[in-house]
Amino acid sequence: MTKIVHSENPLAERFADINDRIAVASRKSGASGKVKLVAISKTHPASVILEALQLGATDFGENKVQEAEEKINEIGRQRATWHLVGHLQANKARRAVRLFHVIQSIDSVELAARLDRLCSEENREELKVLIQVDLGGEATKTGIKEENLPELVTAMREYQRLRLIGLMTLPPFFDNPEDSRPFFRKLRHIRGELYRQGVFGESAGELSMGMTHDFEIAIEEGATMVRVGTALFGSRT
Ligand SMILES: *Cc1c(COP(=O)(O)O)cnc(C)c1O
Repeated sequence: MTKIVHSENPLAERFADINDRIAVASRKSGASGKVKLVAISKTHPASVILEALQLGATDFGENKVQEAEEKINEIGRQRATWHLVGHLQANKARRAVRLFHVIQSIDSVELAARLDRLCSEENREELKVLIQVDLGGEATKTGIKEENLPELVTAMREYQRLRLIGLMTLPPFFDNPEDSRPFFRKLRHIRGELYRQGVFGESAGELSMGMTHDFEIAIEEGATMVRVGTALFGSRT
């Protein structure tokens, strides 16, 4: 059997390589479902996203509303599933509701309440969201602290338009990706507790964790979504 080599197309090569590595890590972990690749396209132009779409990428992640808006308008919102993975400011929330299919960075009751209200104002029936949990403490300070999770989860039960589909985390950066493992494991445990409370409805709840340098370890620890930027699109300048 001949292996197709895309030597003239570095993006195609990297896309194939990442998908292979996801498949290998999934087999190793005994993952039941398919692990979704969210291609983190921040700082890269629409032309690169279009190329990735042609290769078969389906989900893209951006961290700034303004930048995403320009690219999504150019490409077409319906051509992909767009994820917001960066902190969302209150004054950008309405545009985020119009643009994104999934918001992975819910980090406060105020933001969740605002998004729910904006969804009804914008006639958006359902918005899929993940809660971003801060497990790194002082080193990261992104997301909600674990001790404040119950309050947010309880509040979200009242929000008709938001569908809580899982949890996301961004551990502090370590040179050795093995050091991320305890954070991933911790998020999986929290997800398990919330699942037992029926927070995710029928589903087990997504675990969005793992980036370029540690996505295989995240998959071993149960990631259902990995957010890969640099390994796919090259470094951000
Ligand atoms: C930039 C970013 C990523 C991707 O990081 P890479 O190391 O380039 O893969 C993933 N998640 C979030 C929240 C990001 O901001």
